[in-house]
Amino acid sequence: MIKANYHTHTLYCDGKDEMKLFVEKGVELGLDHLGFSAHSPIIQENNFSIKMDQVQNYLDDIEKYQKEFPQIQLFKGLECDFIPGLTYPFQYFLDNFSFDYLIGGVHLVKPPHSGDGVWFIDGSKQETYDEGLLQFFNMDIKKGVTAFWEQTFEMIETEPMDIIAHLDKIKMHNRDRYFKENEKWYLELVDHAVDLVYKHNIIVEINSRGIYKKRYPGFYPSDYILQKVAKKGIPVVISSDAHKSEELGFCYEEAKEQLKKAGIHELAYKVENGWATTSF
Ligand SMILES: [Zn+2]
Ligand SMILES: [Zn+2]
Repeated sequence: MIKANYHTHTLYCDGKDEMKLFVEKGVELGLDHLGFSAHSPIIQENNFSIKMDQVQNYLDDIEKYQKEFPQIQLFKGLECDFIPGLTYPFQYFLDNFSFDYLIGGVHLVKPPHSGDGVWFIDGSKQETYDEGLLQFFNMDIKKGVTAFWEQTFEMIETEPMDIIAHLDKIKMHNRDRYFKENEKWYLELVDHAVDLVYKHNIIVEINSRGIYKKRYPGFYPSDYILQKVAKKGIPVVISSDAHKSEELGFCYEEAKEQLKKAGIHELAYKVENGWATTSF
């Protein structure tokens, strides 16, 4: 099988290590494929995404390290944020740069009628989540969570992407406090998301970052979602979403076990003009 990680952040965005350290770590781990996925530039000023004028340097660096480390195959990816009205169309990056693949993800939820205000549902602080829930949704969790999923639906239906990032990230800071993941209204949203992912031929990643950052005691997405993914035959990749080189490959074996438990026995890997699958 091909051992791969396609979700990796370096100093070009909010990662903490130089790209070279990730490549060296990838070689040490025996990875066949290592894909970089800087957070895409967004229109608002921020401290987590790559700057538009750095994108070409980022791609050049990947090519440079590919020449230096022929024993591992490197890929040029981008984790595209989707915030209606505040992000570039994903197609812009495909038209203007030589990316191998795009990952789509929602980290900032745009509440209806909020102007430029956004609810940051990711990051290290539970308080940020709680404050946004209060500010934008008056603590109405159903409204807030529904806004996240509706933004996810819109992203899937309107933007081109290969992989969808951490599909149910919205559960992370909830930690069973405001809603339970088995509530009917929540499952209906989740079911619809999986149907759309299937319809648009998107790969789902099993993402281990919540576990090793101790922000959520399980993978994204949940076992419930993985079982649905298995039934529909949606392709899957394992992602560490590493922001430090030492995080590359964290929980890789556990992810494989989790996938098997859900009935998934194949992994997707990058080929010249798309993706193929291999059993594991
Ligand atoms: Zn992400
Ligand atoms: Zn990421």
